[in-house]
Amino acid sequence: LVSRKRHPEDTIVMVGDTPVGKEPIMIAGPCSVESEEQVNTVAKVLVDQGVKLIRGGAFKPRTSPYDFQGLGIEGLKILRRVADRYGLKVVSEIVNPADIEMATEYVDVIQIGARNMQNFELLKAAGQVKTPVLLKRGLAATIEELLFAAEYIVSRGNSQVILVERGIRTYEKWTRNTLDILAVPILKQESHLPVLVDISHSAGRKDIAIPIAKAALAAGADGIMVEVHPDPSVALSDANQQLNLEEFTNLMSALQLPVTSS
Ligand code: PEP
Ligand code: MN
Repeated sequence: LVSRKRHPEDTIVMVGDTPVGKEPIMIAGPCSVESEEQVNTVAKVLVDQGVKLIRGGAFKPRTSPYDFQGLGIEGLKILRRVADRYGLKVVSEIVNPADIEMATEYVDVIQIGARNMQNFELLKAAGQVKTPVLLKRGLAATIEELLFAAEYIVSRGNSQVILVERGIRTYEKWTRNTLDILAVPILKQESHLPVLVDISHSAGRKDIAIPIAKAALAAGADGIMVEVHPDPSVALSDANQQLNLEEFTNLMSALQLPVTSS
């Protein structure tokens, strides 16, 4: 179902009135939702920059059980309130199949994170709702495994799936993961689903944000996902890779994304 052979035309996933899969789009926001004030500060800058989709994690799959685990439902409520205030749409990760139904009340796009790309019960649950799903490539998943994960969702009835290349694990240590730029044109060729590139989790650093975002768009990505925090030095997660507001504004100027409307 996700193969381009059977379905040659591009799938455009509508998130509110923003088409994903047409002109390149930007999804930006903090790694974790920490407070309403934090999300509000980021949202203002997104609106200034013409960005329509805000991201933020409320349920955080952290490597260490002692790290900040996210605000849970309270985080989703904060995102919803702030997004409604600014006319934004919410992208947030859900980790538990039992939470998918509840999440549809708060989020406009259900994110399935890299660590859960092959959580098949979660994929099936996401296939049973109508809310668009942003599916991230697993840390050690092949392109084919990513496409089969998408197939789980689509085959259960939800065709609104966005694929995200977010870097895979290699022996390279100067970046957190290795951005598999080759996956972008291959996914676009093999599948009709939109493909985004997460420049934050792939690199794990922010000094090269502009060139990797440009590379992603040049490779045919339908947009970029990036982490932005008002003060990354005090962020409760992923402090090293989150852009501050000025760095984000610079990224937006460098990319000159078209202003899209449906
Ligand atoms: C995220 O985007 O918040 C995240 C945890 O990313 P990933 O699942 O790609 O590690
Ligand atoms: Mn993060």
